[in-house]
Amino acid sequence: MSDVNPYQSLRTQIDAAAQYLDISEGQLERLKTPERILETNLSVEMDDGSVEVFRAYRSQFNGDRGPYKGGIRYHPQVDRDEVKALSGWMVYKTATGDIPLGGGKGGIVIDPSNYSESELERVTRSFAKELTPLIGADRDVPAPDVNTGQREMNWIKDTYETLENTTEPGVITGKDLASGGSEGRVEATGRSTVVAAREAFEYLDKDLEGATVAVQGYGNAGWIAAKLIHQMGANVVAVSDSSGAIYSEASFDPVAVKDYKRETGSVVGYPDAAEELTNEELLTLDVDLLIPAALENAIDEPLAHDISADVISEAANGPITPAADDVLSDRETLVIPDILANAGGVIVSYFEWVQNRQRFYWSEERVNEELDSIIVDQFGNLVDAYEERNLPSLRTAAYVVALQRVMNAGEQRGTWP
Ligand code: GLU
Repeated sequence: MSDVNPYQSLRTQIDAAAQYLDISEGQLERLKTPERILETNLSVEMDDGSVEVFRAYRSQFNGDRGPYKGGIRYHPQVDRDEVKALSGWMVYKTATGDIPLGGGKGGIVIDPSNYSESELERVTRSFAKELTPLIGADRDVPAPDVNTGQREMNWIKDTYETLENTTEPGVITGKDLASGGSEGRVEATGRSTVVAAREAFEYLDKDLEGATVAVQGYGNAGWIAAKLIHQMGANVVAVSDSSGAIYSEASFDPVAVKDYKRETGSVVGYPDAAEELTNEELLTLDVDLLIPAALENAIDEPLAHDISADVISEAANGPITPAADDVLSDRETLVIPDILANAGGVIVSYFEWVQNRQRFYWSEERVNEELDSIIVDQFGNLVDAYEERNLPSLRTAAYVVALQRVMNAGEQRGTWP
């Protein structure tokens, strides 16, 4: 995995699209820079009575189109520039989906597997206390990301509501149903990844039925994408996690692989696998569809030369470096950019927020249908921009469309004071 700075990648991606827009240097700098960042050190009591300090961040990148929106990640690799990049990607993701939200992101430098549930609860509530003055249903709405889920969101909601002496479920999304969550939210990221892939296959006149698929990463986004694409008739021939990859010419049953991982901690060792591979070998398999669903920079420039997949749908944020992107567009690999492919998560977060505010809840069928129709419409918009303006990639098309939307909102607000 390469160590390209993700914030630099974001800036490069924006610059690549800005060439096609009428935009001043000052405006452009504003669109590439976070508005503010909280950096805080959480002192938390461990189960044995000792105290540990955890660094945590929240970046509010741009709120021109609505409240800042984006997840909170727990990972030892979290740092200031990663959080800045991830918060910027959220701005252009909510704009690509055309939902009325801005972009933000947070993270704690922690490997949650080393801590007990009660320690994690204290870490989470401590961060929630720091976040309370900054967040709110109309201000900044966090959500899950890598290594966080419903449990952490429920704790943050409870801490916020207790400190603020209110009930405001829309302060955070990705909650459990009993805490005001939405049907379909857990599956939403994986779902948009495969809906976008379905649209891309149709665009290329390729059959998804019987197509071969490799999925890198078997967390919430990756495993759901594997499950749904398998349900659509594709063959999931390779999957991986941080311990390694497994391959089988006949499709895996993604649910059985998930059960195996739940029991043993990894997909590696799964009995029906014909072969074990490295993550790099998985990424370069000659498959019809590749789904990177782990962390940033999984595909760097040297690796890009060896990519054989026809279509890549990015379930992860930032899995392809800008230099690798150039190689892939020269090789005519169709890359569905993260800011559309994995936008299902934040789109259904938006639905959750709408339901919370109305205190009226939708069926899973309605959630999935509305999500599908946004991805179909916006995929169509990106393809139109890509073809009409003769752009180098769908990523640049997405940034052109999204930058225009953020710029329009910003221009109408003006610069004040
Ligand atoms: N963490 C997810 C993302 O990167 C979801 C964000 C949200 O729902 O606000 O898009």
